[in-house]
Amino acid sequence: MSWYFLTAMTAGVTIWCTHFIAILAYQLDAPASFHLSLTFASLIIAILGSTVGIVVAGTSGGGFRMALGGVIFGLAISAMHYTGMVAYRVQGVISWDLFYLFLSVVFATTLSVAALYLACRGGRFSALKMTGMMTAAILALHFTGMAAFQVTPLKVNSTYDNPAEYTLIALIVAGTALIIVLAALFSHFVENRTRNESIEELRKARDAAESASRAKSEFMSVLSHELRTPLTIVIGYATFMAKLKNHTSSKIGPDEIISAKHFENIGDQAELYGERIKSAGGHLLSIINDILDYTSMELNNLALNKAPFSARTLLDEVADQFQGMAREKGATLHVQSPDLTLIADRSRSLQILINLVGNALKFSKATEIHLRGRAVTDGFCFEVADNGSGIAPQNLERIFDAFTQVEDAEDRAEGGTGLGLAICKKLALGHGGDITVESTLGRGTTFTVMFPSPIAEAKAPVLSAAA
Ligand code: ADP
Repeated sequence: MSWYFLTAMTAGVTIWCTHFIAILAYQLDAPASFHLSLTFASLIIAILGSTVGIVVAGTSGGGFRMALGGVIFGLAISAMHYTGMVAYRVQGVISWDLFYLFLSVVFATTLSVAALYLACRGGRFSALKMTGMMTAAILALHFTGMAAFQVTPLKVNSTYDNPAEYTLIALIVAGTALIIVLAALFSHFVENRTRNESIEELRKARDAAESASRAKSEFMSVLSHELRTPLTIVIGYATFMAKLKNHTSSKIGPDEIISAKHFENIGDQAELYGERIKSAGGHLLSIINDILDYTSMELNNLALNKAPFSARTLLDEVADQFQGMAREKGATLHVQSPDLTLIADRSRSLQILINLVGNALKFSKATEIHLRGRAVTDGFCFEVADNGSGIAPQNLERIFDAFTQVEDAEDRAEGGTGLGLAICKKLALGHGGDITVESTLGRGTTFTVMFPSPIAEAKAPVLSAAA
């Protein structure tokens, strides 16, 4: 709405300026002057009339309102012109040719209706077409109107020239009109830019929402698969266990005497099934824990229990946990860290490192994995670096998004929910730090976790390697 007012105001003022400058340039053979209040009234008529005309035509839509707006606009500029002419005082006898007067009003209204029609219709170059038509309306009004205005000077003075001040006034009026038009154009430009920026932001937000929703749907399918696999194992082995007695007794011959050996066999079988159920149950629990953990962090329920602990011991503990898996995968784990005491949440720090080392073993096919700790100017850094397959540059930011895995759904040999790194990021941010990644395809990946943690006592770095 404010744009209609601004457009109308600018149109009103500039049309009046055009009219007034043209009158200043009008040279008769007799002295002429201006009636101040009537001249001012003609300016007000121009502004108010164009505002009403443009607002009526523009805000309501529909052909009738548009035509009505155009008629109001045309009548307003005609009223401005003739009020201005009445304010024009010349020493002579003035007569009006009613035909031209009527014709000028008809030109002004029809051409204004056409101009507003072109503006409302939109399309290519509509603003340019409207401006052209409006200019035609103003010129037709002015020159036909001037043809209707006839003056017979009382005393003919063929050498009479308009006063030099008229030129100055004309320049001031033209300058003012120019400033107003430039200001309006500038506001239009700024508004347009801001609008385009907001549209761009909205588009980005929509794309992000769409991609989040796509990732969630994909996550749901991955999750059902992830949950089904260990559950199938649990149910399968539990079924074996339930039938273990019958199964074993069916193998015992009718004359065979039941001995301790049979109980031992049943015990061994039960132990094996129990271990498998336990491992599948543990896997299931870790998936559920990840989901619960992430959702509670999403709800800002991350409570950190900060206390002093040894960075070196923490890294050793992680390496110990992964020795078996590393051996299976043919990887060597190296720990390198000064024996520093830092203040952070130990179990959450352990969780981050377990995720990172687990990922390096699961995804990278690395043969060397380094767990490093080092003091930096404003805190402490943990690093997990591998010499594995690396991550493509376009995936580097994405891997920290929740429910995001780089591998296709069919290609997920290692399972996982795509929550590990998202949780690590939240935990690092929760400590006031951050987690970053650097990677080169085919050469390896380094994750750096930065904690702005206070540090106590620094000793020399200790090196160890375990295969
Ligand atoms: P998940 O919780 O399923 O293990 P993450 O969020 O931990 O998933 O990891 C997201 C993705 O990051 C994985 O799909 C994997 O492709 C990639 N990734 C993480 N660490 C590494 C690594 N060290 N080397 C190569 N790819 C990795």
